[in-house]
Amino acid sequence: MGSNEYFTEAVVLDKEPSGEFDSIAHLYTQELGRVSASVTSARKILSKLNSHLEPLNLVQVRLVEKNRFHVADVLKTGALDRQHLDALKLIKSITPEAQPDPELWHLIKTNLNEKDILSILGFDSQFAACLGCGLKKDLRFSINDLSYFCVACYDRLL
Ligand SMILES: [Zn+2]
Repeated sequence: MGSNEYFTEAVVLDKEPSGEFDSIAHLYTQELGRVSASVTSARKILSKLNSHLEPLNLVQVRLVEKNRFHVADVLKTGALDRQHLDALKLIKSITPEAQPDPELWHLIKTNLNEKDILSILGFDSQFAACLGCGLKKDLRFSINDLSYFCVACYDRLL
């Protein structure tokens, strides 16, 4: 079976260990949208790749797709400010996999903020109402429910 190779810019959303030595990198890429890619090289190389794959890092990454995505190589080119961690969490939670979105990518590169992420992905607060009581102001977005709640109903969720 053949494999596809991609070279793309990306932001590292998250990284988690997988098994004893491997890890899974969650990336939002310019070419492919959100992808999860395993990092399973020889251990010496792995530690080098891992240092470039910290959350918030902007990277150029070479991905090989063979059944699933693998990180073949990665180079850090910059990093987002720590204040953007919540926005990256939101992107990881609500973006569909492998659907590139030029508008979202542009936002990541220029003016990352949660309100615009929600708006781009069709969760615009302007037309939203509390899922619990129907109230239309002071709404907060719940990642778990993919819905807006008023402050009172939101607190009840916790
Ligand atoms: Zn409510």
